[in-house]
Amino acid sequence: MAEIRSIKGMNDLFEDELVWWRRVTKTAEAVFQNYGYGELRTPILEEAQLFVRGVGETTDIVEKEMYLFQDRDKKMVCLRPENTAGVVRAMMQHGKIRPDMEEKIYYFGPMFRRERPQKGRYRQFHQLGVEAFGLEAPSADVECMAMLHTFLTQLGLNGVRLVVNSLGEGDERHKYTASLRQYFQGHQENLCADCQRRLDKNVLRILDCKVPSCGELADAAPSAIESLASESRAHFEAVQNGLTSLGIPYQVSNRLVRGLDYYTRTVFEAMAETGLGAQNTVIAGGRYDGLVHEFGGKRTPAVGFAGGIERLVLLLKDSAEAPEAKVPDLFLVAADQDGIEITRKLAFYLRARGFFVEVDHKSRSVKAQMRRANRMGARFTMVLGTNEVQKNHADLKNLESGDVHSLTLEGAAIAAHL
Ligand code: ATP
Ligand code: MG
Repeated sequence: MAEIRSIKGMNDLFEDELVWWRRVTKTAEAVFQNYGYGELRTPILEEAQLFVRGVGETTDIVEKEMYLFQDRDKKMVCLRPENTAGVVRAMMQHGKIRPDMEEKIYYFGPMFRRERPQKGRYRQFHQLGVEAFGLEAPSADVECMAMLHTFLTQLGLNGVRLVVNSLGEGDERHKYTASLRQYFQGHQENLCADCQRRLDKNVLRILDCKVPSCGELADAAPSAIESLASESRAHFEAVQNGLTSLGIPYQVSNRLVRGLDYYTRTVFEAMAETGLGAQNTVIAGGRYDGLVHEFGGKRTPAVGFAGGIERLVLLLKDSAEAPEAKVPDLFLVAADQDGIEITRKLAFYLRARGFFVEVDHKSRSVKAQMRRANRMGARFTMVLGTNEVQKNHADLKNLESGDVHSLTLEGAAIAAHL
């Protein structure tokens, strides 16, 4: 049989990689919890319609990136390409969206998009994300970005810029897309083929086209802020003032739009200055006050962000020392049959009390076990055999200093000396 390999764009993650991942997720979790967020886990498989409605029919995700298939009961299902739609569905399904509610959610997990794999872009990738529901005030947008800033700072990622924009909502958005369409129609012949299509279907997306000639046109395009009515304008100004007053550096870019349809007013991205090439957006988010309503609920303000863990890890590896591998506290060396028995018992006892203990399972010689203990970087070794059992004592050796402590065999006594 031909060798079976993993599916293109889907990675196996081993411990040496995951030590970096845990630094990212543990840091995120600690910061998110300090801001009052609680975790939510939703299924990976959802009805396809959730994303068609939630993410938007003309987005790249829905048009060409979803892993879609018909289930045995003929329902179209989909491996989730993102998690905001799933979080909103869960909140609504469980009656958590109520008038005057306020709820803050975070999540971690795999997402699936069938795009061309390259550095920082995979078909199964992982996101961490947050969603705050029920908060309309600009201070909620500021708090969300402040949390993002603290998370990146605590990770030690300093070369990441925060970029913000406001896309307005409702009529403002229509007014803006109309003025953009008019502008780009005047330059239609200079747009790439993709953008020619976007002109009718999703004109906002022309603004973040990576083709240089489209980029030049986008730079000179009308800005969304010009189309904002006084309320949205005041909201965006308050967001900027809030960031300034906390001393959080940011830039306003009128080319910042998001790939998903559901954003209203504030949008933001954390962008790496170097290290990720074209995949330089590590975290992206914004306000989506219309999504709950889109799913048939009452209009509910919401703001959040999602970040790619793979991209965060790539950046972290460039800017931080490798996390130290965990080493055994103690390697119990068996000298003979009695030693095998007592090392197993002692290991069981000490592991249950929270120590990292290794023993030999291959009947190696004492010398070979000592070599193994050294190679693993064990902090202490103890040789046990008939002799030690009979005399009820053993030598605990500190491999770094060479110091030896003579102990009785009682596990508690040994634990106290570790
Ligand atoms: P991009 O422009 O890079 O395709 P996007 O706009 O599709 O990003 P979002 O849907 O906003 O991205 O997802 C938020 C974050 O998730 C991104 O900033 C990125 O860090 C990560 N991400 C998105 N798609 C992928 C992918 N295919 N592989 C790895 N990470 C991804
Ligand atoms: Mg994308």
